[in-house]
Amino acid sequence: MNLKTQQPCLGQKGWEQYEEIFDTLREPFLILSSDLRVLKANKAFYSLFQVTLADTAQHFIYDLGNRQWDIPALRHLLEEILPQTKTLENYEITHRFDVIGERTMLLNARSIEHADSILLAIEDVTERIRYQEELERSNQALSCVASIASHDLREPIRTISVYLELIGREMGGIKDKKILEYLRFTIDGAKRMTNLVNQLLSHASIGGKHERTSVDLNLIYQQAIDDLQEIILESGAKIKKSQLPVVIGGASEFSQLFQNLLSNAIKYRKTMPLEITISSEKKNRDWIISIKDNGMGIPKESSKKIFEMFTRLHSKEISGSGIGLSTCKKIAEDHGGEIWVESVLGEGSIFFLRLPAE
Ligand code: ADP
Repeated sequence: MNLKTQQPCLGQKGWEQYEEIFDTLREPFLILSSDLRVLKANKAFYSLFQVTLADTAQHFIYDLGNRQWDIPALRHLLEEILPQTKTLENYEITHRFDVIGERTMLLNARSIEHADSILLAIEDVTERIRYQEELERSNQALSCVASIASHDLREPIRTISVYLELIGREMGGIKDKKILEYLRFTIDGAKRMTNLVNQLLSHASIGGKHERTSVDLNLIYQQAIDDLQEIILESGAKIKKSQLPVVIGGASEFSQLFQNLLSNAIKYRKTMPLEITISSEKKNRDWIISIKDNGMGIPKESSKKIFEMFTRLHSKEISGSGIGLSTCKKIAEDHGGEIWVESVLGEGSIFFLRLPAE
């Protein structure tokens, strides 16, 4: 709609030709005269604020719905700020209305001088804010559970592990195979529990206000390789890497991400010699880093699901917690990026990590 080509003053009649357009908008929308009378309100406005045409047309905005719109913040915006700036962008106001209760709204307005009018778009963001707050609350609750787990669970598990090891040593001389086997299962169980608690803790600690620096992913890769030396040697994996970029983020989080992806590539290998290739490519304003293996592969229908917490496809044969990839996803998203997999079952997988280049 080119407003500049319209007649000097549209008034209520002039705007009527746009009625269908206004009524198509999902957000409440008002057209006001320059003296702040309602020339037009759209369907979304009537529906959200539960008013009718008769309640609104030609009324002062502040008089709408029993003067519910007489909001000091709105007066300030329309009478003091808008005349100077001519446009308002994303001004947030919160107000308690009689019928619909407290709402938080984002206001966008434009003063159309040649039409002697003001366009006012009202976006109700109450639910979005409530949802965000709930999400923050549940994240905090999760961190709280994690810290309880750290203090209250780690210590007893450590005690169990230490004493089980001691019992194992003491019983070394005993020939009862059954008892020794039970003991081995119990020690393994305690180790898995320790691992699970540690993984849950590191998952919960991602996000929030962490230090962000320039991180050389070549160094992160090398550190992961050093940490995984034992299983790399044991698996005989051949790992090739091309030059990786420097990105902005948390070094320890990237270390965790590389370790998870590399250790998975090793864990879910096939019987043939394992080859892992790590490379990177710049695409527009992002880096795409890929970690390719020739392992077991992932069925297409599970390629999204494996990034969800506790999802495991090989739970019977290979030990694990199902947390690693969901931690990778959280790290990628926390850095403004994403992670996904392309795979052919029985042939191998490529995990892609997109990270902003600037
Ligand atoms: P974990 O390895 O502890 O089970 P993850 O969250 O790291 O948990 O991985 C989830 C599941 O995704 C794994 O259980 C496995 O079935 C599958 N998976 C992950 N990486 C690979 C891979 N490189 N090749 C084949 N399957 C994989």
